[in-house]
Amino acid sequence: MKFKLFCLGLGLMVLFGGCSSASSNSPEEYSQTIFAMDTAMTLTAYGEGCEAAVNAAISEINRLDALFSVNNENSDIYRLNNEKSAQVSDDTYSLLGSAIDFYEKTYGALDVAVYPAVKAWGFTTGEHRVPSDSELSELKTHIGAENIILGENNTVTLTDSLAEVDLGSVAKGYASDLVCNVMKNTGITSGIVSLGGNVETIGVKTDGSLWKIGVTDPSDESSLIGTLSLENKAVITSGSYQRYFDLDGVRYHHIIDPETCAPARSGLTSVTIVSDSGLTADAYSTAVFVMGLEKGSDFWRSSSDSFDIVFITDEGEVYITEGLKNAFVPRDDIEPVIIER
Ligand code: ADP
Ligand code: MG
Repeated sequence: MKFKLFCLGLGLMVLFGGCSSASSNSPEEYSQTIFAMDTAMTLTAYGEGCEAAVNAAISEINRLDALFSVNNENSDIYRLNNEKSAQVSDDTYSLLGSAIDFYEKTYGALDVAVYPAVKAWGFTTGEHRVPSDSELSELKTHIGAENIILGENNTVTLTDSLAEVDLGSVAKGYASDLVCNVMKNTGITSGIVSLGGNVETIGVKTDGSLWKIGVTDPSDESSLIGTLSLENKAVITSGSYQRYFDLDGVRYHHIIDPETCAPARSGLTSVTIVSDSGLTADAYSTAVFVMGLEKGSDFWRSSSDSFDIVFITDEGEVYITEGLKNAFVPRDDIEPVIIER
């Protein structure tokens, strides 16, 4: 039986495609890697109908990408940002509704309307720059998901003339939930999707064993700080090592603290969330990264949602919430601190 480790982080993504049924006792497998939502995605299904399942999953991803893209002139989000009011699809309406809930639950740490700040730092164009303090204070008055109003008949309105939204922090998690459902509906009972390193699993591996998902070491992306053994879970990471620029010896990354409109300096380099829901995992990976270790732990303790966290600090220390005690196997030189309720 082939051993596959699905790694979090683009640098480590396993890229493969095609169909295989290597030996008579090895089950059929079908896998494809595509580029969508600005990232590489690998979809794998096992057993009868695996090829149809992966093809259905790809159609679903392309459908959602066309709705959520900030650049595609026909997308719901593009129309909303440009016209400040738009009638959108059920998926966009529902995801914006969830994003507003997460904004409230995370005390503003997850803010899909932080986009004007993301743009000001040049993360959208690659023309990176450091905005002045006064520019950041001015931006602060135009961000905030309270500017998104959900109306009748799927109509969405932005109440600030400079407000813009970007679903980048939640779209891949939302998509992975839908994609796994699409695959399950075709009859698949074993599969794994990695949407830009955001992993969601269906069932267990075909030999009955658990999926092993690697957590990337932010200080050396070719290495793992450990692995998580799981079934039927989403595992999603937000890291300051994933998208950044360096200027005058300072690193600026793509996760913005809505309080300051600047890259979050929370003492963390990576936050991985394990949850039954890809959407929850994606939203909370970004939000807990902004919160930091202490606030993030308190948030986990008080949240009514079910999820667990792997924190990696700037110093390379690893903290895990107690639900992962058995699932997480650290690298030899790492001793994780267990966070209790
Ligand atoms: P990635 O999409 O790189 O996997 P995340 O899920 O953490 O990582 O989302 C980060 C993206 O979301 C950024 O590229 C930016 O477009 C947007 N973003 C940045 N900060 C926030 C925030 N505090 N809340 C919501 N979205 C954010
Ligand atoms: Mg996220």
